[in-house]
Amino acid sequence: MATEFEIKKQIVEIGKRIWTRGYVASNDGNMTVKLNDKEILATPTGISKGYMTEDMIIKCDLDGNVISGNPKYKPSSEVKMHLAVYKARPDIKSVVHAHPPYATSFAVAGIPLDKCVLPEAIIVIGAVPIAPYGLPSTMEIPDRMMPFIKDSDVILLENHGALTFGTDLLNAYHKMETLEHTANIVWKSIQLGNVNIMPSKERDRLLALREKFNLTGEVAACNTAPLGQESQNIMAFGQYSKNQKQETNDTNTVSEDAIKEIVGKVLDKLRNS
Ligand SMILES: [Zn+2]
Repeated sequence: MATEFEIKKQIVEIGKRIWTRGYVASNDGNMTVKLNDKEILATPTGISKGYMTEDMIIKCDLDGNVISGNPKYKPSSEVKMHLAVYKARPDIKSVVHAHPPYATSFAVAGIPLDKCVLPEAIIVIGAVPIAPYGLPSTMEIPDRMMPFIKDSDVILLENHGALTFGTDLLNAYHKMETLEHTANIVWKSIQLGNVNIMPSKERDRLLALREKFNLTGEVAACNTAPLGQESQNIMAFGQYSKNQKQETNDTNTVSEDAIKEIVGKVLDKLRNS
Protein backbone atom coordinates (compact mmCIF):
# COMPACT_ATOMS: atom_id res chain seq x y z
CA MET A 1 0.00 0.00 0.00
CA ALA A 2 1.24 3.49 -0.87
CA THR A 3 2.38 5.73 1.98
CA GLU A 4 0.74 9.08 2.62
CA PHE A 5 3.73 10.90 1.10
CA GLU A 6 3.64 8.69 -2.00
CA ILE A 7 -0.04 9.57 -2.47
CA LYS A 8 0.81 13.29 -2.10
CA LYS A 9 3.49 12.86 -4.78
CA GLN A 10 0.94 11.21 -7.04
CA ILE A 11 -1.54 14.08 -6.47
CA VAL A 12 1.21 16.55 -7.51
CA GLU A 13 1.99 14.46 -10.60
CA ILE A 14 -1.67 14.11 -11.68
CA GLY A 15 -2.14 17.86 -11.08
CA LYS A 16 0.64 18.50 -13.61
CA ARG A 17 -1.06 16.23 -16.16
CA ILE A 18 -4.46 17.90 -15.66
CA TRP A 19 -3.00 21.40 -16.10
CA THR A 20 -0.65 20.47 -18.96
CA ARG A 21 -3.45 18.83 -20.92
CA GLY A 22 -5.61 21.94 -20.55
CA TYR A 23 -8.28 20.26 -18.47
CA VAL A 24 -8.33 23.32 -16.18
CA ALA A 25 -7.55 27.02 -16.45
CA SER A 26 -5.90 29.17 -13.82
CA ASN A 27 -6.36 27.66 -10.33
CA ASP A 28 -9.45 25.61 -11.24
CA GLY A 29 -10.03 21.93 -10.51
CA ASN A 30 -9.51 19.78 -7.47
CA MET A 31 -8.66 16.23 -6.41
CA THR A 32 -9.05 14.13 -3.30
CA VAL A 33 -7.86 10.70 -2.19
CA LYS A 34 -9.57 8.78 0.62
CA LEU A 35 -6.91 7.45 3.00
CA ASN A 36 -9.22 5.54 5.34
CA ASP A 37 -12.74 5.73 6.84
CA LYS A 38 -11.97 9.05 8.53
CA GLU A 39 -9.45 10.96 6.39
CA ILE A 40 -8.94 12.31 2.89
CA LEU A 41 -6.13 14.24 1.22
CA ALA A 42 -7.30 17.30 -0.73
CA THR A 43 -5.69 19.78 -3.14
CA PRO A 44 -5.41 23.43 -2.04
CA THR A 45 -7.66 26.18 -3.32
CA GLY A 46 -6.18 29.19 -5.15
CA ILE A 47 -3.17 27.26 -6.49
CA SER A 48 -2.61 26.10 -10.07
CA LYS A 49 -2.87 22.33 -10.18
CA GLY A 50 0.19 22.33 -12.44
CA TYR A 51 2.39 23.94 -9.78
CA MET A 52 1.57 22.15 -6.55
CA THR A 53 4.14 20.70 -4.18
CA GLU A 54 3.58 17.90 -1.65
CA ASP A 55 3.55 20.30 1.33
CA MET A 56 0.47 22.07 -0.10
CA ILE A 57 -1.75 18.99 0.18
CA ILE A 58 -4.19 19.13 3.10
CA LYS A 59 -5.65 16.35 5.23
CA CYS A 60 -9.38 16.64 6.06
CA ASP A 61 -12.02 14.54 7.73
CA LEU A 62 -15.06 13.25 5.85
CA ASP A 63 -17.02 16.39 6.81
CA GLY A 64 -14.40 18.61 5.17
CA ASN A 65 -12.79 19.88 8.40
CA VAL A 66 -9.01 20.38 8.17
CA ILE A 67 -7.05 17.87 10.27
CA SER A 68 -3.50 18.83 9.27
CA GLY A 69 -1.44 20.66 6.68
CA ASN A 70 0.38 23.93 6.14
CA PRO A 71 -2.02 26.67 7.45
CA LYS A 72 -1.12 28.78 4.40
CA TYR A 73 -3.28 26.46 2.27
CA LYS A 74 -6.98 25.71 2.46
CA PRO A 75 -8.90 22.87 0.79
CA SER A 76 -11.09 23.71 -2.17
CA SER A 77 -14.66 24.71 -1.33
CA GLU A 78 -15.72 22.23 -4.03
CA VAL A 79 -14.52 19.39 -1.80
CA LYS A 80 -18.23 19.06 -0.87
CA MET A 81 -18.80 17.27 -4.20
CA HIS A 82 -16.07 14.76 -3.35
CA LEU A 83 -17.44 14.10 0.15
CA ALA A 84 -20.91 13.42 -1.29
CA VAL A 85 -19.38 10.77 -3.55
CA TYR A 86 -17.46 9.10 -0.69
CA LYS A 87 -20.63 9.01 1.43
CA ALA A 88 -22.76 7.46 -1.32
CA ARG A 89 -20.13 5.09 -2.73
CA PRO A 90 -17.92 3.24 -0.21
CA ASP A 91 -16.08 1.59 -3.14
CA ILE A 92 -14.68 4.96 -4.27
CA LYS A 93 -11.23 6.02 -3.05
CA SER A 94 -10.49 9.05 -5.22
CA VAL A 95 -12.37 11.88 -6.96
CA VAL A 96 -11.11 14.25 -9.67
CA HIS A 97 -12.87 17.45 -10.75
CA ALA A 98 -11.81 19.45 -13.82
CA HIS A 99 -13.22 21.53 -16.68
CA PRO A 100 -11.90 19.68 -19.79
CA PRO A 101 -12.98 21.80 -22.78
CA TYR A 102 -14.63 19.24 -25.08
CA ALA A 103 -16.51 17.41 -22.33
CA THR A 104 -17.49 20.71 -20.72
CA SER A 105 -18.78 21.91 -24.12
CA PHE A 106 -21.27 19.03 -24.11
CA ALA A 107 -22.27 20.01 -20.55
CA VAL A 108 -22.82 23.57 -21.80
CA ALA A 109 -24.74 22.40 -24.89
CA GLY A 110 -26.90 20.16 -22.70
CA ILE A 111 -25.99 17.03 -24.69
CA PRO A 112 -25.12 14.03 -22.50
CA LEU A 113 -22.27 11.84 -23.75
CA ASP A 114 -24.43 8.77 -23.55
CA LYS A 115 -24.27 7.24 -27.04
CA CYS A 116 -22.52 4.03 -28.08
CA VAL A 117 -19.67 5.45 -30.13
CA LEU A 118 -16.26 4.16 -28.95
CA PRO A 119 -15.49 0.70 -27.48
CA GLU A 120 -13.20 1.99 -24.69
CA ALA A 121 -15.73 4.61 -23.65
CA ILE A 122 -18.60 2.09 -23.56
CA ILE A 123 -16.51 -0.21 -21.32
CA VAL A 124 -14.77 2.31 -19.05
CA ILE A 125 -17.09 5.32 -18.58
CA GLY A 126 -20.43 4.19 -20.06
CA ALA A 127 -23.28 6.64 -20.60
CA VAL A 128 -22.27 9.95 -19.00
CA PRO A 129 -25.19 11.92 -17.52
CA ILE A 130 -25.39 15.68 -16.95
CA ALA A 131 -26.27 16.82 -13.42
CA PRO A 132 -28.36 20.03 -13.45
CA TYR A 133 -26.50 23.28 -12.78
CA GLY A 134 -25.69 24.24 -9.20
CA LEU A 135 -23.81 27.16 -7.70
CA PRO A 136 -20.12 26.19 -7.27
CA SER A 137 -18.90 25.79 -3.66
CA THR A 138 -22.46 25.29 -2.33
CA MET A 139 -24.40 22.10 -1.60
CA GLU A 140 -26.42 22.69 -4.78
CA ILE A 141 -23.92 20.72 -6.87
CA PRO A 142 -23.67 17.63 -4.62
CA ASP A 143 -27.45 17.62 -4.16
CA ARG A 144 -28.06 17.71 -7.92
CA MET A 145 -25.36 15.10 -8.61
CA MET A 146 -26.87 12.68 -6.10
CA PRO A 147 -29.34 10.89 -8.45
CA PHE A 148 -26.41 9.93 -10.74
CA ILE A 149 -23.67 8.95 -8.27
CA LYS A 150 -24.81 5.36 -7.73
CA ASP A 151 -24.99 4.48 -11.44
CA SER A 152 -21.94 6.16 -12.95
CA ASP A 153 -18.30 6.98 -12.09
CA VAL A 154 -18.35 9.93 -14.49
CA ILE A 155 -20.73 12.90 -14.30
CA LEU A 156 -20.90 16.06 -16.37
CA LEU A 157 -21.92 19.17 -14.42
CA GLU A 158 -24.21 21.43 -16.44
CA ASN A 159 -22.49 24.67 -17.55
CA HIS A 160 -19.50 23.79 -15.36
CA GLY A 161 -17.27 20.74 -15.92
CA ALA A 162 -16.83 17.09 -15.04
CA LEU A 163 -16.34 14.82 -12.06
CA THR A 164 -14.78 11.34 -12.22
CA PHE A 165 -14.22 8.84 -9.44
CA GLY A 166 -12.41 5.56 -9.02
CA THR A 167 -10.65 2.99 -6.90
CA ASP A 168 -7.52 5.18 -6.71
CA LEU A 169 -6.31 8.52 -8.06
CA LEU A 170 -4.92 7.14 -11.32
CA ASN A 171 -8.13 5.21 -11.95
CA ALA A 172 -10.27 8.35 -11.40
CA TYR A 173 -7.91 10.50 -13.53
CA HIS A 174 -7.85 8.02 -16.41
CA LYS A 175 -11.64 8.24 -16.58
CA MET A 176 -11.25 12.02 -17.02
CA GLU A 177 -8.85 11.38 -19.94
CA THR A 178 -11.25 8.86 -21.52
CA LEU A 179 -14.15 11.29 -21.07
CA GLU A 180 -12.31 14.18 -22.74
CA HIS A 181 -10.93 11.98 -25.53
CA THR A 182 -14.45 10.68 -26.26
CA ALA A 183 -15.98 14.17 -26.22
CA ASN A 184 -13.23 15.38 -28.57
CA ILE A 185 -13.93 12.58 -31.08
CA VAL A 186 -17.73 12.92 -30.89
CA TRP A 187 -17.39 16.67 -31.41
CA LYS A 188 -15.15 16.14 -34.47
CA SER A 189 -17.53 13.49 -35.88
CA ILE A 190 -20.35 16.01 -35.57
CA GLN A 191 -18.25 18.46 -37.60
CA LEU A 192 -17.79 15.77 -40.27
CA GLY A 193 -21.58 15.48 -40.44
CA ASN A 194 -22.19 11.95 -39.22
CA VAL A 195 -21.96 9.94 -36.00
CA ASN A 196 -22.46 6.18 -36.39
CA ILE A 197 -24.01 4.73 -33.25
CA MET A 198 -23.08 1.14 -32.43
CA PRO A 199 -25.95 -1.37 -32.08
CA SER A 200 -27.09 -2.77 -28.72
CA LYS A 201 -25.72 -6.25 -29.53
CA GLU A 202 -22.20 -4.82 -29.86
CA ARG A 203 -22.63 -2.71 -26.70
CA ASP A 204 -23.64 -5.80 -24.71
CA ARG A 205 -20.60 -7.72 -25.99
CA LEU A 206 -18.38 -4.83 -24.90
CA LEU A 207 -20.00 -4.58 -21.47
CA ALA A 208 -19.44 -8.32 -20.99
CA LEU A 209 -15.70 -7.62 -21.28
CA ARG A 210 -15.83 -5.60 -18.03
CA GLU A 211 -16.12 -8.83 -16.09
CA LYS A 212 -13.34 -10.47 -18.09
CA PHE A 213 -11.00 -7.54 -17.35
CA ASN A 214 -12.13 -7.38 -13.68
CA LEU A 215 -13.16 -3.75 -14.04
CA THR A 216 -14.59 -2.12 -10.92
CA GLY A 217 -16.96 0.83 -10.56
CA GLU A 218 -20.28 1.65 -12.15
CA VAL A 219 -21.07 2.26 -15.81
CA ALA A 220 -24.53 2.99 -17.19
CA ALA A 221 -25.30 1.21 -20.48
CA CYS A 222 -24.78 3.54 -23.43
CA ASN A 223 -27.73 4.57 -25.55
CA THR A 224 -28.06 3.04 -29.00
CA ALA A 225 -30.70 5.51 -30.29
CA PRO A 226 -29.58 7.98 -32.96
CA LEU A 227 -28.33 11.37 -31.86
CA GLY A 228 -31.12 13.50 -30.41
CA GLN A 229 -32.71 16.48 -32.09
CA GLU A 230 -30.47 18.87 -30.16
CA SER A 231 -27.37 17.22 -31.67
CA GLN A 232 -28.92 17.22 -35.13
CA ASN A 233 -29.47 20.94 -34.81
CA ILE A 234 -25.87 21.47 -33.80
CA MET A 235 -24.80 19.25 -36.69
CA ALA A 236 -26.62 21.62 -38.99
CA PHE A 237 -24.92 24.58 -37.29
CA GLY A 238 -28.37 26.09 -36.85
CA GLN A 239 -29.39 26.03 -33.21
CA TYR A 240 -26.76 28.22 -31.63
CA SER A 241 -26.94 31.06 -34.13
CA LYS A 242 -30.77 30.92 -34.13
CA ASN A 243 -30.85 31.27 -30.34
CA GLN A 244 -28.40 34.13 -30.46
CA LYS A 245 -30.52 36.02 -32.99
CA GLN A 246 -33.67 35.63 -30.95
CA GLU A 247 -32.04 36.83 -27.77
CA THR A 248 -30.12 39.75 -29.18
CA ASN A 249 -33.01 40.81 -31.42
CA ASP A 250 -32.31 44.26 -32.88
CA THR A 251 -30.26 45.80 -30.13
CA ASN A 252 -26.58 46.30 -30.89
CA THR A 253 -26.48 43.51 -33.45
CA VAL A 254 -23.80 43.71 -36.11
CA SER A 255 -25.30 43.35 -39.56
CA GLU A 256 -24.23 40.55 -41.87
CA ASP A 257 -22.94 43.12 -44.34
CA ALA A 258 -20.74 44.68 -41.65
CA ILE A 259 -19.31 41.24 -40.75
CA LYS A 260 -18.62 40.52 -44.46
CA GLU A 261 -16.85 43.86 -44.76
CA ILE A 262 -14.66 43.21 -41.71
CA VAL A 263 -13.81 39.66 -42.84
CA GLY A 264 -12.98 41.00 -46.32
CA LYS A 265 -10.62 43.58 -44.86
CA VAL A 266 -8.86 40.99 -42.69
CA LEU A 267 -8.45 38.61 -45.66
CA ASP A 268 -7.08 41.45 -47.84
CA LYS A 269 -4.58 42.30 -45.13
CA LEU A 270 -3.48 38.67 -44.83
CA ARG A 271 -3.10 38.34 -48.60
CA ASN A 272 -1.01 41.52 -48.76
CA SER A 273 1.22 40.68 -45.80
ZN1 LIG B 1 -15.27 23.47 -11.00
